[in-house]
Amino acid sequence: MSSVPLPKNEQARLQLLHELELLDTEADPIFDRITQLVKEVLGADAALITLVDEERQWFKAKVGFDEPETDRDDSFCTHVIAAGKTMVVENALEDDRFSSNPYVLAEGGVRSYAGAPITLFDDYHLGTLCVISQSPNKFPAAQVRYLEVLADWLSATIADRYEIDNYQAEREVLAQGPVCAVVWRVEPEVHLSYVAENAERVLGYPNEYLLRDDVNYESIVHPDERADLLDRMQRVLDGEQEFLDMDYRILRKDNGQDTSHWVHHYARADKDKAGNVLRVRGYLLDDSKGKKLELALRETNQNFELALAAGEFFTWSWTLPNDQLKVSHPWSLMAGYSSKDEQQLNWQTLVHPDDMTKMQERMNDHAQGKTDRFEVRFRIRHKEGHYLWLHSVGKIVSRDSSGRPLRMTGIHHDISQQVANENFLEQQAQVLELVSHVQHEFMLAKDFSEVCDHALPKMMAMTGSKVGFVGELPPGSRQRNLLLVHGLRIGSDQYESESLQDLVKQSLEVEVAGDVIRSVLLRGEPEFCHEPLSELEMTLTPITLPALKNALIMPLYFKREVIGLMILANTESHYSRKYLGLLRPMLDTLGTLMHMRRMDEERQQAVEELRTLATTDELTGVANRRVFWEAIEQRYDEFMRYEVPMTVAIIDLDYFKQVNDNYGHAAGDEVLREFCERTQVQLRDMDLFGRLGGEEFAVLLPYTPEDEALLALERIRKAIAADPFVVEDEKITVTMSAGIAQLKQADGKLDHWLARADEALYKAKDQGRNQCVTASKR
Ligand code: GH3
Ligand code: MG
Ligand code: MG
Repeated sequence: MSSVPLPKNEQARLQLLHELELLDTEADPIFDRITQLVKEVLGADAALITLVDEERQWFKAKVGFDEPETDRDDSFCTHVIAAGKTMVVENALEDDRFSSNPYVLAEGGVRSYAGAPITLFDDYHLGTLCVISQSPNKFPAAQVRYLEVLADWLSATIADRYEIDNYQAEREVLAQGPVCAVVWRVEPEVHLSYVAENAERVLGYPNEYLLRDDVNYESIVHPDERADLLDRMQRVLDGEQEFLDMDYRILRKDNGQDTSHWVHHYARADKDKAGNVLRVRGYLLDDSKGKKLELALRETNQNFELALAAGEFFTWSWTLPNDQLKVSHPWSLMAGYSSKDEQQLNWQTLVHPDDMTKMQERMNDHAQGKTDRFEVRFRIRHKEGHYLWLHSVGKIVSRDSSGRPLRMTGIHHDISQQVANENFLEQQAQVLELVSHVQHEFMLAKDFSEVCDHALPKMMAMTGSKVGFVGELPPGSRQRNLLLVHGLRIGSDQYESESLQDLVKQSLEVEVAGDVIRSVLLRGEPEFCHEPLSELEMTLTPITLPALKNALIMPLYFKREVIGLMILANTESHYSRKYLGLLRPMLDTLGTLMHMRRMDEERQQAVEELRTLATTDELTGVANRRVFWEAIEQRYDEFMRYEVPMTVAIIDLDYFKQVNDNYGHAAGDEVLREFCERTQVQLRDMDLFGRLGGEEFAVLLPYTPEDEALLALERIRKAIAADPFVVEDEKITVTMSAGIAQLKQADGKLDHWLARADEALYKAKDQGRNQCVTASKR
C-alpha cells in the first residue's frame, strides 16, 4: 500500500473542515443534484462530493456509489487534496499509486477517476468533486474543465454558507451581548437611522424614542462629554479622522437619581467612491463596569506610585549590649559609600551631630517606658557632603531580667524629599509673610531702602547667600548701565554692612561694568551663574562687590518693564531654579514697591517745585511778596496780643536804574541775586527776608526792638557797600538804603506800622542814601 501524502497545512485544514460542520450531516438536495448532473454529463458510473478528514473520506453527496465513507488510505481524493489540483486517472491498473487499491482490485473495481479539489480560502483543500467508472477512460479536456468549474462553484457556496453561519451566530451573540450597532445617516441632517434590537439594553432608551426625528442623540449624552463627542463625530464626518473611539456617559435619571452609565463608542464612516461620507456606523458597548474598574485601578495605581515614590522602608535591629546595628539596607550605602567602606564606618559617625542628642533622648525616653515607641527624624551625612533625612520608628523587643533593654527593632526610610518639600512649603509661607510685612512697612514709612534692608537679609538666609543687592534702573537710563542702589548686604560683617548702608541711604548711583548684569537688565531674564564671576561683574563704580563665586541675578519688573534687579550671591551649594519660584512673590513686590517709590519721589518733587514756585521769588530765590505779607499779617496779630518786640525794615537799592543803564539788565539781575545772598548771611534763622518787587526788599525781625534791628541792618548795609559786586569782570559798586520801624500798640493797624518804615526809608534816601534810618529817630 502506498503511503498517503499529506498537504502542508494539514492541521489547519482539518480544523477548518470540522469548523464547517459539514461532516456527517444530512444530504443536501442541491449538492445531490450537482453530483447527478456531473455523473450524467461525464458519462461516469458514479459521482461524489467527498470531504477528507483525518481517517476517512466522507461523502456529502453521492450518485452510483453505496458506501457512506471509505478509509482515507484507500481514497483517490486524498491525492487531489495533497497536490491541491485536479487529478485524472485513466486506468488505475496502470497507475502505481492505485494498482493495488482494494477498490481497484475488487470485482467490478474502479478503473478511471477524475477529481477536482473543493478549495476554501485559496489553499484549504477539503475534498473533491469526482467521478469514477469501472472502465478506463480518457477524459476530454472539456469534461475536466466542467468538473473544475462545478468544484469551484461548490467551494464558493460552502465558503459563503460558512460566512453566513458565522455572521448569523455573531448577530445572535451581539443581540444578546452588551454591544449594539447603530447607524447615523448624514443627509438631510445627521441623525440615527438604525438602532440594533439590543440598543435599549445598552443605552436604556427604547429604539422608537432614539429614532424619533425630534430626538437628538447627543441629548442622551452626559453634558460633561457631550461637546467632545460632537467634536469627534464632526471630525469623522469631515474626514479628518478615520474613526471615533471614546468613552462617555449616557444620561439617565431614575426617580431623580443620577444613574448615568459609561459606554464605549466606536464608529467609522462609510464613504462613496468620491470619498463623501454616506453614513456613520458605530458600536456602543455598555462599559460601566470596565470604566469603574479603570477609574478605580487608576486611583490605586496612583496611590501605589505615591507610596513607592515616598521611599522604601528598611528594617533595622540593634543589639544594645554590644552596640551592634543590623540594617536591611545599610545607611552607609544610602549615604553613597560602597560596601567595602562600610566595614570601617561606625553608624554614629554618620549621624548629624545636632541630631545625635535628640536621638539619644528619644531612645532613653523609650527605654524608660515614657514612650511606647521610639521615633525620630535625623540626618546622616552623605559621602558628597550633603545630608539625607531619615525617619526611624522602633520598639524594644527584649529586655534582661532587670528590665534593661537588650534588643530594639524598627524601620526607617529616606524622607529627604519629603523634608525638602516641607522646607520649601515653609519657606514659601515665609516669603508670603515677608511680602505682606514689607508692603505694610512701605505704606507706613514710604522708605524703599528700609524695605530692602529688611527683606534682603531674610532672602539671603533662605537661599544661604552671603551677598545681596537691590538696584533700580534710573528712569530714562537707555544704556542700562546705571543703577540706583537701594539695598546692599555683604555677609554678616556688621561694620562693612553699616558703612555701605550709609552710602545706600544717600541714593548712591553706580555704574555697571559687567556684561552679565547688563544683559539681565536688557533681556529681562534671570541668570544663574554657577561659576565664579569676572572682576568686571563685581565692579559697580564707585563700589566694588566682594568676589562672587556664584550668583543668581534676577530682573525686577513693573508691568512687563524691567525696573531694576536683585542679586543674590555666594551660596554654599548652587542656585537652583526652585529659588526663582520661591522668591517670585518677593521679586514682584520689590518691583511694584520700587515703582511706587519712584512715583512717590516724582510726586514729591513736583509738589516741592510747585510750592517753591508759589512761595519764592523766581530771580533771587527769597520769599516773594505774597509770602512776606502773609507772614507779616500772621505775626502782626500775635505780636499785638503779647506785646513782644518786632521790627520791620524796608530796603531799596540806591540808583539802581543806573546799574541797569551802565551794565545792562542781566548784570542788574545778577546784582539783585548777589545782594540777596550777602543779606541772608547776615540774618538769623527766625528773620524773614523777602523781595517786595523790583529792587525793593523787606526784613521782618521778630523778638527784636528797633535799636537791635538797626544794628542788623547796618551790618547788611556795610556788607553791601564794602566790596563792589563783580559781574562778568565788571566791578559794580552798590549801596542800599533802609527804613526801620518797630511795631507799636499805637500803630493800631498793620498799614500804619509799614507806612512808618516807608517814611524812614524816604528819609534815608533824602539824607543822601547808603544809610539806615529808624522811624523813632525820624
Ligand atoms: P533810588 O531808588 O536811589 O531813588 O534810585 P533808583 O534808580 O533805584 O530809582 P527807582 O527805584 O525809581 O528805580 C528802580 C529801578 O530798578 C527801575 C528798574 O529799571 C530797576 N529794576 C526794577 N526791577 C528790576 C529787576 O528785576 N531787574 C533789573 N535788572 N532791574 C530792575
Ligand atoms: Mg525802588
Ligand atoms: Mg532804588
